Amino acid sequence: LLTVRGLRKSFGTLEVLRDIGFDVPAGTVTAVIGPSGSGKTTVLRALNALDRADAGVITIGDLAVDFGAPVDRSTLARFRSRTAMVFQSHNLFPHRTVLENVIEGPVIVQRRPRADATADARRLLDQVGLAEKADQYPYQLSGGQQQRVGIARALALDPQLMLFDEPTSALDPELVGDVLRVIKDLATAGRTMVIVTHEIRFAQQVADQVLFVDGGVVAESGPPSRVLVEPEQPRTRQFLKRIL
Ligand code: ATP
Repeated sequence: LLTVRGLRKSFGTLEVLRDIGFDVPAGTVTAVIGPSGSGKTTVLRALNALDRADAGVITIGDLAVDFGAPVDRSTLARFRSRTAMVFQSHNLFPHRTVLENVIEGPVIVQRRPRADATADARRLLDQVGLAEKADQYPYQLSGGQQQRVGIARALALDPQLMLFDEPTSALDPELVGDVLRVIKDLATAGRTMVIVTHEIRFAQQVADQVLFVDGGVVAESGPPSRVLVEPEQPRTRQFLKRIL
């Protein structure tokens, strides 16, 4: 579903991504791990062109975009509509109810009829265990519940690919489990997902593939049973030793 080739990105003189390449088959989960500052978030933001890469080709489904060349606006809009991102902290609109937050994208961006979007949103809120919170405001919810609203909001866009940027790192430990459970359910349902995470045990449980990003490249990749248990690269081993 997703292929990434030769992705490069610098911020000023800081070269963050040197040559990133990987594939994500449809219906699979990819966990992206690596040291702080290695560029994991930058990879994710490049995948939905929140930050445009300086070079590299990203293909999602049948749409290939070469970021080394100018990209026209309609292509960029089509490209972006194939993914939805769940951020580290939820980014909900504080003055809108939970339900209004979830239907915002479908109604405003996708111009879907409000009644349809509302019916879908209620189903999605049920799916993330928040059916009864539809008419509350974000401040009335716990951080974990807010994050699950964020997931429902991303799902409402019906993206081909879901991107998660450390979805649990801003949460109190006791709230992490519920969010991870929702993500696991999505994996079981066959959602294609790329997840930047520090939760190694979670990666081990849900990921089909783990990418270890270091030094601006994918330094090691493969199934979690290999990369997380018996990594080939010394730097992967060092990283895991530090965080486990
Ligand atoms: P962490 O695990 O700490 O979240 P990360 O692997 O996700 O880190 P990134 O957030 O992708 O790392 O950042 C990679 C590098 O790029 C860092 O050195 C960061 O300071 C730098 N960087 C990221 N975004 C910008 C920006 N908009 N402007 C300048 N530098 C940036």
